[in-house]
Amino acid sequence: MLDSTVAYRFIIRLSETREVDAVNSVFVEILNELINGHFALYTVQDGGRTTQFNLTSDSNPFGSKVEPILSLFNSKLKQRKGMFSGELRPIPLASRNGLHSILILERKAKVLDEVFFNALMTVYSNQFHLVENCSYDSLTGLMNRGSFDKKMHKLLELQNNLQREKDNEDNLSCLGILDIDHFKKVNDRYGHVYGDEVLLLLAQQMQRAFREEDWLFRYGGEEFAVIIRNVTKEQSEQVFERVRKAVEAFYFPQVGKVTISIGYTQLHEALSAGQLIGEADEALYYAKEHGRNQLHCYQTLIELGELPRDGKPTGDIQIF
Ligand code: GH3
Ligand code: MG
Ligand code: MG
Repeated sequence: MLDSTVAYRFIIRLSETREVDAVNSVFVEILNELINGHFALYTVQDGGRTTQFNLTSDSNPFGSKVEPILSLFNSKLKQRKGMFSGELRPIPLASRNGLHSILILERKAKVLDEVFFNALMTVYSNQFHLVENCSYDSLTGLMNRGSFDKKMHKLLELQNNLQREKDNEDNLSCLGILDIDHFKKVNDRYGHVYGDEVLLLLAQQMQRAFREEDWLFRYGGEEFAVIIRNVTKEQSEQVFERVRKAVEAFYFPQVGKVTISIGYTQLHEALSAGQLIGEADEALYYAKEHGRNQLHCYQTLIELGELPRDGKPTGDIQIF
């Protein structure tokens, strides 16, 4: 039996988490205390095309033995990959949003307190569900503004540490802001229901055209933010341009053609999230001013002398 004060402390810590990553890391910490034996924890991410399993425990002590287990839970696989070994005990964890994690225990592992362990699984799933629902936009399914703020904060902290070690031109992170062109006209002409449909379809186009590892957000209204990492300058241009073209080529039912303008900037450790948004916004404003349906990079505009170097905004475009 687990000491009840220890158990309460665990539950309180779990209920204090406000981000999916934090929910997972606290859960893993608790499992480390509760389980005498090896285990691996995976979160399940159901992207449109693939089901991804992300390792969230510190390591996977079972190597490739986990693969047949994970393939059992892969909704995109028609054929399962063989049988899984009886040495392992998979525990699927689901919330109201569906399957979210898979805990794999070695069968001979000793769980300190089975009753608490079972209750903990439910608390973890509930907390996961709660935090996940708070992190996503209900219309488009992309991450919401709150998630954007948290992710930016974390990324800048990380960037700060990396930058101190070395300045790496080939390993950039970029922040882009995408804004629908003349969206007000879509609403005015077809009504808000069609306007909402455009937002949803656009988000789907973005999910298709960006890469799995890119972070996509509905920043507010008809504006989207994207953070891409580990790219060269050329790659960043290609990634954003691919999205702009994909949207341009897509036929939106009833509404027809819709275009977007994009402004982006390279993340720099010395700047705050607010300043970076300001830079991406300036590049976006430039795109709007110069005909819309185009992509501009803040740093390139500065180099070309199209924007002033002192960083003073050239316009008063607002995020909302
Ligand atoms: P620009 O090319 O300069 O960006 O023009 P715009 O018309 O897209 O920009 P503006 O900022 O004037 O209008 C944005 C419109 O987006 C106004 C608002 O009604 C609409 N909008 C914002 N959020 C939503 C939403 O959730 N659903 C719908 N249907 N419309 C929205
Ligand atoms: Mg706008
Ligand atoms: Mg707009």
